[in-house]
Amino acid sequence: MFCVKCGNKTEKKALSKDSISREICMECGNIHYSNPKIIVGVLPAYENKILLCKRNIEPGYGKWTIPSGFMELGESLEEGAKREAFEEANLDIKIKSLYSTYSIKDIGQVYILFLGEILNNDYAAMDETSEVKLFKFYDIPWTQIAFSSVTFSLRRYISDFNNGRKYKIHTNYLSHQT
Ligand code: ZN
Repeated sequence: MFCVKCGNKTEKKALSKDSISREICMECGNIHYSNPKIIVGVLPAYENKILLCKRNIEPGYGKWTIPSGFMELGESLEEGAKREAFEEANLDIKIKSLYSTYSIKDIGQVYILFLGEILNNDYAAMDETSEVKLFKFYDIPWTQIAFSSVTFSLRRYISDFNNGRKYKIHTNYLSHQT
């Protein structure tokens, strides 16, 4: 790759023996750190129902997901979750609590999802969505869910709901814990 500061070629090098290799500029010495991206989203819940969005874009075209997307600079996690809910489904959401984190190590993505209460009833499919629907738990199209992070969080949400609505925080690398 090329240096973002001076445009010269970079080389992949470890700065010390046991450290991670990074792209380093051979001209100006700029170190190019690459870190995971944060995807923020919300589980929009209403009684024993969850609102899902049918994706109008790749990846996962035609499959269902919850409102979520890359966090933007200058916003909090909560603001990002609310923004995604608005952009994808015209949802007005009250963020209630942190619900799950889901790390996908091999592609450098971290999902951070909140529980949200739906405040409006004129939700609708927006830009990246072709359809918006409130699903009863037993109607959720499990084979048509776009992302493993969403399946993970939906399953735990239903389990928590059925267990006296005791919502815990779930993470995929601690999911064996109770
Ligand atoms: Zn450079």
